[in-house]
Amino acid sequence: MTPDARPAAVLFDMDGTLVDSEKLWTIAMDDFAAANGGALADATRERMVGSNMPRSMRMLLGDLGLPAEETDVVVAGKWVATRVTELFGEGLEWRPGAREALRAVRAAGLPVALVTSTIRSITELALDTLGHDTFDVTVCGDEVAGRNKPLPDPYLKAAALLGVAPADCLAVEDSPTGVAAAEAAGCAVLAVPCEVPLEPGPHRALRDSLTEVDFTDLGRFFPLEAV
Ligand SMILES: [Mg+2]
Repeated sequence: MTPDARPAAVLFDMDGTLVDSEKLWTIAMDDFAAANGGALADATRERMVGSNMPRSMRMLLGDLGLPAEETDVVVAGKWVATRVTELFGEGLEWRPGAREALRAVRAAGLPVALVTSTIRSITELALDTLGHDTFDVTVCGDEVAGRNKPLPDPYLKAAALLGVAPADCLAVEDSPTGVAAAEAAGCAVLAVPCEVPLEPGPHRALRDSLTEVDFTDLGRFFPLEAV
């Protein structure tokens, strides 16, 4: 891609990137811990951010000193999903600049994908806020055969569904797990931390907020060394 070219598509993470929902996941996990007579350690919760449900449940159960066999993971996942569904149903807040970013990218005529570790049923609730017609494709955490972030598969699947090369895409992420997935897929990454700090890196542009990004001028993210 030439330095002044636009990305072929923009691939957005959801939780913590477009909507301020990581804190709702934290409430659900804390409620599960309390219901089981324990408390989730902050460090464990930080490591979960951006992860899919089974991986997060294994960390949660492990942190609480509870059995984490397959059935335990499934039961805990259903409990947390039910609680998060309640919380998402009470309404979601946009992350600063996210609504404007989506609007600008769509106005520029670029394909847009949602690439989330969250399961489809909960994602559909979030789409009530984000818009069910906002994305050309949506890839959810239960649609990648268990090969979730930080593996590249969710981003590779989104790019394939859009018919574009991952290396020509700009991914927008907020978590170390998500950034790792997008970079492993070969995407350029716009990294905007939410709950967990992010480090600078060679394939990522680090910003404090989406409000700092001119989404009508995305060519400047290629090559990333120039930004
Ligand atoms: Mg995220």
